[in-house]
Amino acid sequence: MGQTEIDNLIELLARLPGIGPRSARRLALSMLKKPDSLMRPLAKSLLDTADSIVKCLTCGNLDTSSPCNICQNESRDESTIVVVEEVADLWALERASVHKGMYHVLGGTLSAIDGISPNDIGISSLVQRAQKEETKEVILAMNATIDGQTTAYYITDQLAAAEVKVSRLARGVPVGGELDYMDDGTLLEAIESRQPF
Ligand SMILES: [Zn+2]
Repeated sequence: MGQTEIDNLIELLARLPGIGPRSARRLALSMLKKPDSLMRPLAKSLLDTADSIVKCLTCGNLDTSSPCNICQNESRDESTIVVVEEVADLWALERASVHKGMYHVLGGTLSAIDGISPNDIGISSLVQRAQKEETKEVILAMNATIDGQTTAYYITDQLAAAEVKVSRLARGVPVGGELDYMDDGTLLEAIESRQPF
């Protein structure tokens, strides 16, 4: 193994969110020291996961099956759909066990600056789901950012014709806050005190 492979490894690690070049070098070195007990199992886990991961065609979640485990779970309440920006937000709500219904992962927000339009994120599939008879309520759980709220307003507009209640998270979520960073109590309070939008 030459320096090129190690440099390549460091360069790949540095592309991960929250990992700069310095952290990447440290991670690479800790792996180089444990090729059999850490590096190979990690490489296998990465490959196995990459081979099995699919995007749920119903809700946009990432899982090993489509429909995903949440969409397939018959004990969940299919009358309520919580709309989130990213899978990380779905994970945060699941960790807090505050929602027993379904989800819809948009995969982003509308953004004039980044040129993200309604067709780029999962809005039309959400509107289709909202029009189904079993859907009674759509809870908008966007981040409290300008793009998040712009997206929430747009979706509310698109859902006007569907016979569903549309609500949003209460202001327990601070301005500029991201769901993935909230503690369970804040998430619970926010989802329980949701208000009509
Ligand atoms: Zn799903």
